[in-house]
Amino acid sequence: MQIPSVHLNDRHPIPQLGFGTSRITGKEAEENIAFAVNTGYRHIDTAEHYNNEEDIGRGLKRCDVPREQLFLTTKLWNNHQGYDQTLRAFEASLGRLQTDYLDLYLIHWPCPQRNLYVETWRALIHLQGQGLTKSIGVSNFRVEDLQRLIKETGIVPAVNQIEVHPYFQEAELRAFHQQHNIATVAYCPLGRGAAFDEPVLGKIAGHYGKTVGQVILRWHMDIGNIAIPKSVHDSRIIENFHIFDFKLTAEDITAIAALHKANGKICAEQTGV
Ligand code: NDP
Repeated sequence: MQIPSVHLNDRHPIPQLGFGTSRITGKEAEENIAFAVNTGYRHIDTAEHYNNEEDIGRGLKRCDVPREQLFLTTKLWNNHQGYDQTLRAFEASLGRLQTDYLDLYLIHWPCPQRNLYVETWRALIHLQGQGLTKSIGVSNFRVEDLQRLIKETGIVPAVNQIEVHPYFQEAELRAFHQQHNIATVAYCPLGRGAAFDEPVLGKIAGHYGKTVGQVILRWHMDIGNIAIPKSVHDSRIIENFHIFDFKLTAEDITAIAALHKANGKICAEQTGV
């Protein structure tokens, strides 16, 4: 099975389903990633902060998939913001991942109180200009942070990676993304299971003969998100991959829209100070 790709605003394709790797390290991460790639995932999401870039690098070396068929994302951690620090942190990430380029490099959090994200963004623009990363983007940026980046540098991030799941849908931020041609990468796409017992999701899942997890991931695909679920279980890694043989209706999507909760956010803000 082939995962569909969407085109970013810089024309590079990104597989719409990826594999998340936070909270997995060591041998487990290495084996996990090799299993995911052998299952068919081609888009891998990691971060300097996950302490697993070396494990991911080793896991990818174990697979028979050529580097150019993989889409590799990592993220700059908060304490390395600033122009020169970013260039150094980027090089260190490449070394740990055993690769000579990235597909996507992200600023993990804006940390607006540190006021460094614009110069950090200029470093990412430089790295992209050098061909060291194909695409550049951000994560956890709010509308005002995105507006400032665009106004001060003229370069629109290719993606904003944010928390999105049925209990926390970020409709306004996603609308802003759409207006500016910024792709939404949904993290915590399954809401870490928070909505799995929702009757409406159970009903939709029953209708298609799918699991609730698969319905949630299909919902991401159908509303245009890129989703990066994580699992350490082989059976779930396979389950989460099998979402391309059905499609939700407009009624299903309306029913899921009603599940949003103002207090549905799971991940706490990381200010890095
Ligand atoms: P997810 O919404 O992907 O949920 C993962 C949890 O759900 C795990 O505990 C997993 O358990 C379980 N799970 C996975 N698949 C299934 C399934 N089919 N049925 C039942 N349970 C399932 O949350 P994450 O927080 O892991 O987010 C995914 C990725 O997003 C991260 O790994 C990371 O790459 C990224 N991320 C980015 C952030 C950012 O600030 N940019 C912040 C947080 C995440 P088990 O592993 O035991 O199977």
